[in-house]
Amino acid sequence: MEFPMPTEDSVNRAMLEAWRTRGELLLQHCAACEAVIYYPRKRCPSCLGGRLENRPSTGEGRIVSFSVVHRGVDEAFRQQGDTVTLAVVQTDDGPQLVTRIVGADQGNVGIGQRVTLFDGASREGLRLPVYRLLGASR
Ligand SMILES: [Zn+2]
Repeated sequence: MEFPMPTEDSVNRAMLEAWRTRGELLLQHCAACEAVIYYPRKRCPSCLGGRLENRPSTGEGRIVSFSVVHRGVDEAFRQQGDTVTLAVVQTDDGPQLVTRIVGADQGNVGIGQRVTLFDGASREGLRLPVYRLLGASR
């Protein structure tokens, strides 16, 4: 069972491809005002500048909020376990993103905890960046 596929276009292709092939999260940086941007866009949301460069994220951040979903998710998610942990992660780079927390320590997820990008994404067919607790077992 495959995970739902995000719609890929010329704006998000570099980010999706970097994640899919290298497990790397690319964030856009505005050349005019230095804003760091996620999700990928055509123009900077701060200054409307159009010169945006992709740079790799540090890969780390902390949980701002989370919710454990017990049912009603896609079959691909159910194959990974009984629950899905959705979270808002504040990246060390600046932007916040909505993501999932994966890994063996789902019961220990809490606000403020440090997370790092999950490095098994391409192996497991994960389509969007996901995180695991920093220091937790894989
Ligand atoms: Zn800007």
